[in-house]
Amino acid sequence: MIQCVRPPGAPDYCSRTCCTNTLKNAIRLKMLNPQCQVIVLYKNIVTYGFREQFYTEARRRGVIFMRYTEEQPPRVVPDNGRLRVHVTDLSLKRPFELVADRVVLSMSIAPAEETASLARLLQLPLSPEGFFMEAHLKMRPMDFMQEGVFLCGMAHYPKFIEESISHALAAAGRALQVLSRETLHVGGVVAVVDPEQCVGCLTCVRTCPFGIPTIRNDRPGVGGLGGSAYIEPSLCQGCGTCTAECPANAIQLLNYLDVQIVQPVQGDWAHGSHLTRRQWSLGARP
Ligand code: SF4
Ligand code: SF4
Repeated sequence: MIQCVRPPGAPDYCSRTCCTNTLKNAIRLKMLNPQCQVIVLYKNIVTYGFREQFYTEARRRGVIFMRYTEEQPPRVVPDNGRLRVHVTDLSLKRPFELVADRVVLSMSIAPAEETASLARLLQLPLSPEGFFMEAHLKMRPMDFMQEGVFLCGMAHYPKFIEESISHALAAAGRALQVLSRETLHVGGVVAVVDPEQCVGCLTCVRTCPFGIPTIRNDRPGVGGLGGSAYIEPSLCQGCGTCTAECPANAIQLLNYLDVQIVQPVQGDWAHGSHLTRRQWSLGARP
C-alpha cells in the first residue's frame, strides 16, 4: 500500500482520511489471513485522535511500515504479470525491491470538478487547495461570508463520514434558522450608495470582500447616466471597506455616517476641549 499518491503538479496537502483507511484495510487483511504480508509505504502516518489505535494494532499484527521521502518516491514497475516496487527506506537508508501481488494506492482527495464554477456562480471563496472556504474555521465552520449559503462535508475539505454527518446536521440547523422565520432582521450597520454621486467606477464592486455591490442599469448614476452601484442591505456585512474606498464619496455606512463621525470630532476641538489631538488619537474621549 502506497500512501500520499497525487497526480504530477497537484497541490501538496494531507487528505486526512487515507492513512486511517489504509490501516483498517491492512488490519482486515491480517485478520483474514495472518500469513499475508502487508507493507505500507508512507511519508507521514496521520491517524487523528483515537484512530492512532489502528496504527498500534496494525503493527501488533505484523504490518510492515517503510518510510519514503518526497525526493525518492516509490517506483512501480510491471514485470511478467507481477508488479515490482522499488523504494528506498528512510530509516535503513538502503533500496528495496518488493514483489507485490497487489499494489494499492492512496490517492489524494481533490475538490469536485464543478467546485470552481459553482464558486464563481455564487461568488464564494475557495481555499488554496480548491475546496470551499468557511467564514471562520472555529466560530462559523458551516457558514460562508455570504449570508444564506452554507457548506458541509467534503466540499469543505477531506473528512471522515462521521465528521461529514455532524457538519451536515449543523449546516441544516443553520439553514433552518433562516427558513423557520417569517421575517429576517438584519443589522442596521449597512452601506448605502447615493446614486446621484456614483460614477460607476466599480471600485466598490472590486474591493468588497463579500462581493455584494453590483452595478444596476436601472439606477441612473451621476449626471443621469445609466448605471450606478447598489448594495443589497440584507447581504451587506457593514465592514465599511467600500465606504472608505469609493473615490466619489458616494457610499455611507449607516450609524457611522461621515457627519456622525466628523462633527463630534470637530465640535470637540472647536470648543476647546482639554483633549489634545494626540490624546484623541490614542483613544481618549471627553
Ligand atoms: S466605488 Fe463609489 S463611485 Fe465607484 S461604483 Fe462604487 S459607489 Fe459608485
Ligand atoms: S460595507 Fe463591506 S460588506 Fe457592505 S458592501 Fe461595503 S465592502 Fe461590502
